[in-house]
Amino acid sequence: MPEIVTRFAPSPTGYLHLGHVHAAKVAHDLARQDGGRFLLRFEDIDHTRTRPEYYDAMEEDLRWLGLAWDGAALRQSSRTAAYDAVLERLKEIGAVYPCFCTRREIEEEVARITNAPHGPEGALYPGTCRRLPLADREARIANGIQPAWRLDVSFAAGLTGPLSFHDLQHGRHHVDPGLLGDVVLARKDIGTSYHLAVTTDDAFQDVTHVTRGEDLLLATHVHRLLQALLGFPEPLYLHHSLVLDGNGVRLAKRNEALSIRHLKAAGNTPQTILAMLPLS
Ligand code: GLU
Repeated sequence: MPEIVTRFAPSPTGYLHLGHVHAAKVAHDLARQDGGRFLLRFEDIDHTRTRPEYYDAMEEDLRWLGLAWDGAALRQSSRTAAYDAVLERLKEIGAVYPCFCTRREIEEEVARITNAPHGPEGALYPGTCRRLPLADREARIANGIQPAWRLDVSFAAGLTGPLSFHDLQHGRHHVDPGLLGDVVLARKDIGTSYHLAVTTDDAFQDVTHVTRGEDLLLATHVHRLLQALLGFPEPLYLHHSLVLDGNGVRLAKRNEALSIRHLKAAGNTPQTILAMLPLS
């Protein structure tokens, strides 16, 4: 059996809270129970949302909790060239197309057409720019208009054929490539996206087991498709439960009372904090 490699991949947009700790512990324990490696990766491609002080604070809180990682943390903000190269490969195989639509234009188009495509999370991109003639695309790009790049899901799925992924808790899933539609793989403003960066880095860091919250289960359908298109290895998955606040809502920055800093100041020890987590 090859060595298990897992990662905890927070965005440094706030202090570490109980939801993060659950995700970190699931990844940490899975790797450590088997003498494997546990990595830390900061998902900081969206520089408008990150703040410098959160990187060190998150590292400090993880160490205090006894959830130490191997090697230096990887920052996605240092990986722009790798994401550009992957996007170029997707362009070469024709699996992405430029999209010039604004959010407003997409909403208007969805409202206008009957039978607009919908997925589990609402309206999907209606494919406007997929149908744009090549000359139009080239003219707009030549005029300096910066497009987003979207995955051409049906073309991509035709290239890969049927796919599946295996989740250690939820079993085998057949990939439904169109579940999230023609998702954006490179945003206009930052030139990449969560889907593209995560898929690229999990392969780059040799992650064998991708552990993350079950709210990202749908995204895994897109990630498997990208892995197959790009010739990346297929990891195993473990989508764990989320830590919810008193109203049943996923923890976020606003739940300051459940930040590790706050819990520590209130007299908790690492042991009492880890005992607050769900079992899986
Ligand atoms: N950065 C993501 C989050 O904070 C995690 C992504 C992943 O683990 O794939 O939810």
